[in-house]
Amino acid sequence: MTHEAWERLERLADEVEATVAPQFHKIDRIAERNQWRVIRAFQKHNVSDYHFAGSTGYGYNDRGREVLDLVYADVFQSESALVRPHFASGTHTISCALFGVLRPGDELLYITGKPYDTLHKVIGKPGDGTGSLADWGVSYREVPLTAGGGVDEEAVRAAISPKTKVIGIQRSRGYDWRPSFTIDEIARMVQLVRSVKPEVLIFVDNCYGEFTEEREPTAVGVDLMAGSLIKNPGGGLAATGGYICGNTAAVEAASYRLTAPGIGGEVGAMLGTTRSIYQGLFLAPHLVGQALRGSVFAAALFERLGYETSPAWDAKRTDLIQAIRFRDKELLISFVQGIQRAAAVDAHVTPEPWDMPGYTHPVIMAAGTFMQGGSLELSADAPIREPYIAYMQGGLTYSHVKLGVLTALSGMQIINKL
Ligand SMILES: *Cc1c(COP(=O)(O)O)cnc(C)c1O
Repeated sequence: MTHEAWERLERLADEVEATVAPQFHKIDRIAERNQWRVIRAFQKHNVSDYHFAGSTGYGYNDRGREVLDLVYADVFQSESALVRPHFASGTHTISCALFGVLRPGDELLYITGKPYDTLHKVIGKPGDGTGSLADWGVSYREVPLTAGGGVDEEAVRAAISPKTKVIGIQRSRGYDWRPSFTIDEIARMVQLVRSVKPEVLIFVDNCYGEFTEEREPTAVGVDLMAGSLIKNPGGGLAATGGYICGNTAAVEAASYRLTAPGIGGEVGAMLGTTRSIYQGLFLAPHLVGQALRGSVFAAALFERLGYETSPAWDAKRTDLIQAIRFRDKELLISFVQGIQRAAAVDAHVTPEPWDMPGYTHPVIMAAGTFMQGGSLELSADAPIREPYIAYMQGGLTYSHVKLGVLTALSGMQIINKL
């Protein structure tokens, strides 16, 4: 690309940034308030250098680990928390939370439609032999979303039965073209469910949602919530892990699944991960703000070029994911490849669509990340099928997202029309 063409893109970006300035201001205000909440939690527990030392072996009396749990519990306005590098992924974390609180004969009822892909095998089928929830005799049902992507309140009311032990809510859209659920909407779901069955346990899959708003689901009556440390709350520094927050009894039950009954969260050597998990949490509100700014910029830019985006640039956000609908397969692939070209890591490889296990269509992914699969870092995924939607998320700095989007645009053969 010529210098002149790049300058043309920069001027376009300037105009887009002028348009979205009020949105950036809102994002920065949320980030500041969340930053304070995190700092105050550190201060309340007198976090000091000695907390960052790792532990080995059983990890008994690891004060850094204990205080980390207390800090997370405060930040997420919940009674207890379990924050560990021993959770291998978001799916593993969610699985521990669900297996912790469900027993044979109980029912799990998801009220936000089909859950995230990787949870389908956790839920499983009766007799599948994998030790899935269904294999253990936990039954599962889900209430599909309405055509508009909302919770079908009447159907939820009707679906809750004496067997229903846990209500499942997924905050983020995941990789679906539907709105994500804001904290206000989750609060409304809590009220609805409690009005039918007060004692039911409400679980939220909080992946991608942390720090995008000023409150978290556990602040509005949710009993149990889980997420991944290589997404928002790890702040780009946590190398692996997950967290579970919620009522003390429910978090303890989940801890028995992570380690063993009777042992729970009292063991678990941190193996030198503690400092990065603390520091990542400290950085998370700011980094989430940077990623959100990037999403808003991308949405506004592509809307201006006539593309459909979800959420729209001026919509209220409650997760990091930005979906952009392209007109054809070539533009979609070109966009994803362009994101990779702007990465600091692995920019020399060109992503191609491939048949990923568990997916029915080829998928293309751009992920030039420091942490493998880390999706608080700029990344983009797209199943190669109509309606040709790219899902973009993350970005440790706003500049990186902006450069990624402009680089993608420069390769898309639409630039001459600007
Ligand atoms: C990422 C994600 C998961 C699963 O996390 P992995 O780390 O990929 O296992 C579950 N639910 C939602 C909504 C997610 O975004």
